[in-house]
Formats: sequence, C-alpha cells, structure tokens
Amino acid sequence: MLNKSKINFIALAAVLALSACSGELTVDDGKVKASMGNKKQETAKEFVDRVNQELIPMSEEGAKTAWVAATYITDDTQMLEALNSEKFLAYNSEIIEQTKDLDLADADAKTLRAINIIKTGSTLPAPNDAIKRAELATIMSGLGATYGKGKYCPNGPDSCKNLGELSKTLATSRDYNEQLEAWVGWRTISPEMKKDYSRFVELSNEGAKELGFANTGDLWKGGYDMTSAEFEAESEKLWNQVKPLYDELHCYVRDELVEQYGADKVSKDGPMPAHLMGNMWSQQWGEIYDLVEPYPGVAEFNVTSALEAMQVEGNNEQDKKMNKAVKMVNMAEEFFTSLGLPALPESFYEKSLFLKPRDRDVVCHASAWPMDDKDDVRIKMCIEPTSEEFTTIYHELGHIYYFMMQKDQPALFKAGAHDGFHEGIGDTLTLSMTPKYLQQIGLVESVESNEQAIVNQQMKLALDKIAFLPFSKLVDQWRWDVFAGKTTPETYNADWWKLRTKYQGIIPPVERSEADFDPGAKYHIPGNTPYTRYFLAHILQFQFHKSLCETAGHTGPLHECSIYGNKEVGKRLGDMLAMGSSQPWPDAMQAVAGTREMDGSAIIEYFDPLMTYLKKENAGKTCGW
Ligand SMILES: [Zn+2]
Repeated sequence: MLNKSKINFIALAAVLALSACSGELTVDDGKVKASMGNKKQETAKEFVDRVNQELIPMSEEGAKTAWVAATYITDDTQMLEALNSEKFLAYNSEIIEQTKDLDLADADAKTLRAINIIKTGSTLPAPNDAIKRAELATIMSGLGATYGKGKYCPNGPDSCKNLGELSKTLATSRDYNEQLEAWVGWRTISPEMKKDYSRFVELSNEGAKELGFANTGDLWKGGYDMTSAEFEAESEKLWNQVKPLYDELHCYVRDELVEQYGADKVSKDGPMPAHLMGNMWSQQWGEIYDLVEPYPGVAEFNVTSALEAMQVEGNNEQDKKMNKAVKMVNMAEEFFTSLGLPALPESFYEKSLFLKPRDRDVVCHASAWPMDDKDDVRIKMCIEPTSEEFTTIYHELGHIYYFMMQKDQPALFKAGAHDGFHEGIGDTLTLSMTPKYLQQIGLVESVESNEQAIVNQQMKLALDKIAFLPFSKLVDQWRWDVFAGKTTPETYNADWWKLRTKYQGIIPPVERSEADFDPGAKYHIPGNTPYTRYFLAHILQFQFHKSLCETAGHTGPLHECSIYGNKEVGKRLGDMLAMGSSQPWPDAMQAVAGTREMDGSAIIEYFDPLMTYLKKENAGKTCGW
C-alpha cells in the first residue's frame, strides 16, 4: 500500500518540486532557453525570484498535462505529456547551467537554499552535452518501458503473467513451488536492463559531477541539510534504534514459516527464502498475516465490513459507489478539520477522481496533486470500500494539506521539509485511527478492546510497517554504492543480495548470478526514484505521532492515543506544513516535535504490546540469521 500510493506523487513531484517552466520559454534552433534578462547583471536573488515566477505557469501547465494523461489515457494525451516533460527537462538543465554564472558572495541564506534546491532537486542529473543528455533520456524511458511492459511468459505468448497476477500468487498461494515460479518468473524481465542501467550510472554521474557532487548518490544525499557521510550515519542510527523489533518479528515469522513449509524448506536459524513473505520484494508481509496471527480468530475491529455496510443514497449502483467514496473522503477530511485545519476547497470535490470511470482507462494508482499556485488540489484514486483504501485516503490528504498550507511559499519552497516529511504526514494521522476514534465518527458501533485483539492488530501493522524498514533502507544503500563505484556491474546482483541478507535476513530461494539483475525487478530502480524517503517517512510518522500526542496531553500507552479533535495539535502541525522547504528540516522538526533530531524510539514505544508478545514467544529460540 505504501509504495503503491506514493509512486505517482513522486513522479509528479520530480517535475513539480523544482517546478517548472513558463510562457517565457522560447524555442530557438530546436533549443529551449529560459528567458533571461541580461544574466551578467542578474544577482543571485533576482535569479531565484525570476525562476520562482517562471515556475508558476510551467508547473500549472505540467500538472494539467499530466492530470489529463493520467485520467484519460490515450496516445494523444501520452504524447502531450512526453512533450511537456521534455520541455521541463530542458528548462531544468538551463537554469542549473545559469546558476554557475551567479555571484554568490553576497547571497542571503534563503537565496543559497533555493539555489541548492535547484541543483539537488533533480534525481536525474543530466550531462550538459546535448547528445549525452538525449542518450540518457532514451535509456531512462527504455528502462521504464521494459519494466512497465514486463511479463513472465513460461510457455509462449498465451501464457504471460503480469506483475499483478504474479504478486497475487505470492500473496495468496501457500504452495512453495507455485510461489517460487512466480518469484523467479518476475525476475526474467530485468536481465535485459543491466547494460542500460550501468550506462545510466555513468551518464548521470557525469551530470552530478558537473553540478559539483562526487556522484549521483552524493547528490541524492545532498537534500538533507547535512553532509552525505553524516546522512549515511543518521540513517544507520535510525535503523539500529528499530532493529531489535525487526529481529523479534523476523524470529517469530520464521518459525511460523518453518511450521507451514517444513524445516527442509525454511532454515530454523538462517535467512528466510524471499518468495514466502507474501510480497514480490519481501518488503511488506501483511499478506501472510493468516500464517502468523498471534491469537487466531480474535477479531479486531473490522473497518472493511463497516465500510461495506455503510448506507448511502443513490439512484443506481455507480451513484451509490460514488457517494460512498465521497463519504469516505469526507470522513478523512473531517479528521483534518477537527484539528482546526481548513476545509478542502469545493474544487477538490469537483475535480478529483474518486472512482474508476466506466468509459475509459485511467491510472488508478492513488496520488495527490497540486494543480496551480492557488487552491486547485486534487487526489486521483479508484476508491473501494476497504480498510486499506480508507487509510490511503488519509495518506493522500496528508499530501494535500501540505500543498494547501504551503501555498504562500515561493515555487522552489513548495515541498516537504525533506522528502520523508511529505510521505509521513497522512500516515501520522492514521496512527490515530484507534478503535475509539472509529467509534467517535460512527463507523463502528462498539469496540471491544482486549489485550489479544491489540496484539493481533499490532502484528498486522508491524508486518507492513516494521518489515518495510530494512528494505526501504537498503535499496538506496545499494545505489549509493553503485553510483560511488564500490559496486560495479560485475557484482550488481551479488551486492544486492548481500544487503538483502544483511538487513532483511532473507535469501534468494534459488541460486542467482550476475546474469540476473534482481534490483531491476523493483520499480524504483529502473524508474530511478530514490527510496530513503520511505524509510524516513516510516520513522517520522511514529515520532510525529508521539510528540503530537504529548502536545495533546495524552497519558497512557502510545498506541491508544488519538490526536483527533485537538486544535492545539493542529496548530503545531499546520505551522510546520506551512514552512514547506523554506528552512532546513531540523527547523521544521523543531516546530512539530520540539527536537531537531530524527528519532526511531517512538516505534519501539508504540509497539510495546507486540514486543512483549514476541519476546515471550521467541524465548528459548535461536534468533538472528
Ligand atoms: Zn504519498
């Protein structure tokens, strides 16, 4: 759910965060130039002001082109979108080039910050050389297309299975060999990416060096207001804070897998085979909850059946579906307004896409969109009445409120304090969706809360949120090493698996070699989307939850706290959101959490009931791998 609901926002943010061009663009001999006065005379501040102005119409045009392409998929809209993003990339290269002529001696802190955002804002630094830039663009769209079209065809064209079908097998089958085939099958799509991927690494590194970074990984790490060595140490510190809980979860789950599949298939004291975790990348394990449920049959409150049972008016089925979807969005909005945050603009309800249309193709993938520099904000989702989708609405509205609260910031500062902040806001609120809250909003009538139900519920949450932590950390570690040349094409796959085993305690179920390219079977590698943001978002949402609960005066266990209805909390949160990326993230952290550090300890506190259970269950076992 997590990634699913994020990818599109990120893709959009890549275009918009740095956001975009203007009507002042001119095409001259096929080359796009940003309008410039006399750049020799332009001060750094004037340059930043101009870029901020140019970005407003360009962002709006980019957002609207992309919106139409995503909600009305035709060859025409795809072509218009591609043309638009090409225009933006050219503009981006141009303004980055222009930063080199600036005299920064007298520039103020905000101006320097804005210039740094221009330089580090692109996750794909392109060389200045136009031929190489075109080569890079071709490689990237090729990698994306290879992934997007990827299918496993064991017996000719009629036997093909796509990622969705193969994932379903991993999620629902409990047949070792059937799961193995799905896992290996999906990885047949990526070997052909390897050569292009290594060329992409060379070219983007060249672009990064031209910007003054050692390599692309260093540029990525440059977005956190600290040196790249400090950032690496910071993420390692956060990981070590939460690792004890992961280790207990791993130990417990492994035992259940031994029971299900036999000790000949799953080692009692080694890493777990990667294809048995219910997910194509073993990144979230919620799908195997049935195998590990601590207290079988002890029902936690069932949000899905409450949503299904919810009565709505409507003249026909589609009408009713729409009204139910709107009602779900209303409930999520009401959480935000209960905190004293503003209501969503009317245009949000008019222009968002809530349901899968019956007459055309759309990208159903949930995402949140800022459409202009005023108040046109939208989400795009194909809402179904399930607990998971209900939570996703809160996640997306977290982005929407970030957009709304920072609307007075200049274009370059319309972003999260760092990229983990943006992803963590809505999720912070979902931690307040306690049984009591669901009762308060009338979704469930009465809630029976006992210790066993709490442990079951925490297990479900941990299978997704805790299992995700090591994976979300290692994806970029692999790439940092690749960009730095520590990992070369000769060891791409071996080094990938070294990290997977070290952090996640999993191994490939069959022997792998350098003829394979398993990293490429994960969207974000060919898609070139940084991943650390998700790791940070998972840490931050618990930290934010804890500090906001303290603001709310909550006493008692952290998992019982709900910030629902607390205006003081809303003020704190809103003030932080309004800062956008105008200040270093520790300032934003200070505003919301009263500290300048990221801290993973709230996770351990939140999951205390589960930790107690796991320790008891794991007593006497050999944990670790
Ligand atoms: Zn998101």
